[in-house]
Amino acid sequence: MSDADAAARRTLVDRLRERLDVTERTLSAIEAVPRHEFVPERLRSQAYDDRPLPIGHDQTISAPHMVAVMVDLLDLDPGDRVFEVGTGCGYHAAVVAEIVGPGTVYSVEYVPALADAARERLRRLGYAVTVRSGDGRDAFPDESPFDAAYLTCAAPDGVPDAILDRVVDGGHVVAPVGDAGGQRLVRLTVRATGVDREDHGGVRFVPMQ
Ligand code: SAH
Repeated sequence: MSDADAAARRTLVDRLRERLDVTERTLSAIEAVPRHEFVPERLRSQAYDDRPLPIGHDQTISAPHMVAVMVDLLDLDPGDRVFEVGTGCGYHAAVVAEIVGPGTVYSVEYVPALADAARERLRRLGYAVTVRSGDGRDAFPDESPFDAAYLTCAAPDGVPDAILDRVVDGGHVVAPVGDAGGQRLVRLTVRATGVDREDHGGVRFVPMQ
């Protein structure tokens, strides 16, 4: 990795620290992941701009500030088992893996070509993340419940029960919900008695398939 990439990443993280109310743990994870390895070659010079970029198949890698906010809301600890719906290029999963460590991030991606590319990229970069191709509503049926889950695609009618059901009592689910008319970032806390919902503002994500 070049010094220029590392310097650009440090500058990005310094800006995020000024703008966002997120923990140093989250910022360190952003600083550790080589985002330029996750974007298409021709866009590498923009890898440390704080903006989403196209990754092919009509999908996008989220802006770094959005990844930082979502990771922070999950309130993760090392060893937590995390379920991601929407691997895309694998960047967000790598940031989560920096916090929870190897072997406990499970990610599902709808577009098989993106899943294959992300799996290979994450492996090459040393991230032990399990990537499957499929629909987030029925992925990893044999895995025991997750400590946390998040969606990187917007669920039009709210987070499907099939995903909420996979999370332990007291666990968080962070997701964009809504459609082209408007999306909100929400943090749900799953409880035996129901689901608590916090609103974290307007967002724009690709739709869930
Ligand atoms: N976290 C990703 C962002 C990917 S964009 C990154 O860092 O690059 C959202 C992704 O969700 C897209 O790749 C899209 O194909 C995927 N997706 C949409 N609907 C899905 C579904 N039902 N199950 C799994 N993945 C889905």
